[in-house]
Amino acid sequence: MPVTDTLDRPLRDLRISVTDRCNFRCTYCMPKEVFGHDFPFLPRQELLTFEEIARVARLAVGLGVRKIRLTGGEPLLRRDIEVLIAMLREIEGLDEIALTTNASLLQRKAQGLKDAGLDRITVSLDSLDDATFQSMNDVRFPVGKVLAGIEAADAAGLNPIKINMVVKRGVNEQDIVPMAEHFRGTGHIVRFIEFMDVGHTNGWRMDDVVTAAEVVERINAVFPLQQADPNYPGEVANRWRYEDGAGEIGVIASVTQAFCGACTRARLSAEGKLYTCLFGLRGHDVRALLRGEQTDEEIDAFLSGVWGKRVDRYSEIRSEGTVNLPKVEMSYIGG
Ligand code: SAM
Ligand code: SF4
Ligand code: SF4
Repeated sequence: MPVTDTLDRPLRDLRISVTDRCNFRCTYCMPKEVFGHDFPFLPRQELLTFEEIARVARLAVGLGVRKIRLTGGEPLLRRDIEVLIAMLREIEGLDEIALTTNASLLQRKAQGLKDAGLDRITVSLDSLDDATFQSMNDVRFPVGKVLAGIEAADAAGLNPIKINMVVKRGVNEQDIVPMAEHFRGTGHIVRFIEFMDVGHTNGWRMDDVVTAAEVVERINAVFPLQQADPNYPGEVANRWRYEDGAGEIGVIASVTQAFCGACTRARLSAEGKLYTCLFGLRGHDVRALLRGEQTDEEIDAFLSGVWGKRVDRYSEIRSEGTVNLPKVEMSYIGG
């Protein structure tokens, strides 16, 4: 039975983090100083198994979920992720399986992901300039390899590809227009994301945010844009189309234009905690139920109970300037 929360929002999307590990150290997500050699990442037995993930996914589809996104950490680091995708593909009623990746392993994995049943892929790329990109990923990963990954995904039929660029003032704002220009006319969609205050480790300040409005203004000055309608209600990106027909971009104004009212997402951490908000403080321990003797009906009741009580609207409250809540890290909960 589909569920709704206290603000009448249905449960539509489930983001599943399949690992808390990553081979990048993006300064805004897993800064090196915090996520160093001795960082206590989750031991393997703490991670949900594929069977456990698939069971939660199946029950969540029964509650209304239509779209699942695999994320992390870096999801392609999870061994045999294709096997999980194939298991999710079997779930009746699930419309879409997507994955967000830094593309470091995409060139050799793209075809296998497609063959396993992946529908769509989002690649994170913050700059086309090697020096800037490497200063942001902080592991000297070159732009060229990400572009090769995008090409491989395109060739495998995982298109159109979305490309996420987190824009940080004074760091990569000069890359907004080049990024738009590079992907215009390719069919891929660049989505410019406002730098967010997730977690506690990225030293967020409002001064570092380049607003979505400014991004649109800068691109529009060079390549005129017109606003496009959302693809579906509750789409987080605002869509803008090039007037000359060269495709579209998206801007995600998570800081300056809160979209909590239409937020239909739940997140499952790699160790099986369910969060009903990206800025959640406390996760609900689903793994304990999965590893106990609980029946599907009992887990189902637990999940619908959690969603039914949901009151989250962190971004809206933040815009009202009334909170400074403790939060979980993006690499843990999966963005
Ligand atoms: N490792 C994969 C990747 O980078 O695509 C998947 C996980 S990553 C946490 C998911 C998305 O969150 C990425 O597109 C990343 O750029 C974004 N992200 C991470 N920290 C962010 C922040 N502070 N503000 C905005 N977006 C952020
Ligand atoms: Fe890794 Fe993605 Fe976070 Fe970068 S944004 S550190 S690639 S999880
Ligand atoms: Fe959804 Fe929480 Fe983000 Fe609001 S702040 S849009 S409720 S995840």
